[in-house]
Amino acid sequence: MAVDPKSANGFVTRFAPSPTGLLHLGHAYSALTAWEAASVAGGACLLRIEDTDTTRVRPEFETAIFDDLAWLGLSWPEPVMRQSERHAAYEQALERLGRLGVIYPCRCTRADIRAALAAPQEGAMSGDAGATVYPGTCRGRAMDEAGPGDAIRLDMDRALGLLEGETLAWHETGPIHPGRHVADPAAMRNEIGDVVLARKDIGTAAYHLSVVVDDAAQGVTHVVRGRDLLESTPIHRLLQALLELPVPVWFHHELVRDEAGRRLAKRDDARSIRAYREGGTSPDEVKTLCRIQIK
Ligand code: GLU
Repeated sequence: MAVDPKSANGFVTRFAPSPTGLLHLGHAYSALTAWEAASVAGGACLLRIEDTDTTRVRPEFETAIFDDLAWLGLSWPEPVMRQSERHAAYEQALERLGRLGVIYPCRCTRADIRAALAAPQEGAMSGDAGATVYPGTCRGRAMDEAGPGDAIRLDMDRALGLLEGETLAWHETGPIHPGRHVADPAAMRNEIGDVVLARKDIGTAAYHLSVVVDDAAQGVTHVVRGRDLLESTPIHRLLQALLELPVPVWFHHELVRDEAGRRLAKRDDARSIRAYREGGTSPDEVKTLCRIQIK
């Protein structure tokens, strides 16, 4: 489902959960923040099902998403976009990136990457989120060598080189770090590196590519999401520049945390919206609960 921003006061946002577990208080907070922002702006909030991880997705979790959001009093335009039905769009984007010469197939396993990183001469650094930066072992392989088990990676250095002279700027509103931001190419090379854009067979997009392609296809003008995804923004901005897609405004919100300060995870079933519902908590009480647990 796409919405023309012109018919929505220039404000289209979305809530984009993955059906890999039950929604918890953190999802409720994210959804409520997105719907509230749309309502204040007189705009629209869409629901998108991010079901590309076929090993973890389960149909009952998708049903639970619809039920729990409706129970919270939220509604959305139908039909809902499902990423599992979007292979053609992702493939088109990959073809375009292929023509630009900024992607390559990678057959490294996690163990290969760990081994290469352990060799000091490879010289790769660790990202600030603790993630490892891909050491570039397969960089230089041509796309026509791609095999069925390969991942497709962005050649960060070539992509930035291609856009040289273009300022990758974006705006953020919301509580985390509002204002105008500009991507730092050195940090993108050294701390982010050659991220995976697709897995296995071409057309199965990974998070960064699918989210950028779908936000554009759905006419999303404002991306409302948790601060855990803050560091993805420069990658998304770069992909938008390469694919010549519109650039939204970002709004990152705080995360709901438990008493020990840890962000909630899907395995914390005790805090699932379903568990609150079954325990007799009302939708209004859940709304209050997710707000008071924000730190
Ligand atoms: N599907 C992502 C998640 O569940 C959210 C994607 C986004 O908002 O950019 O964390």
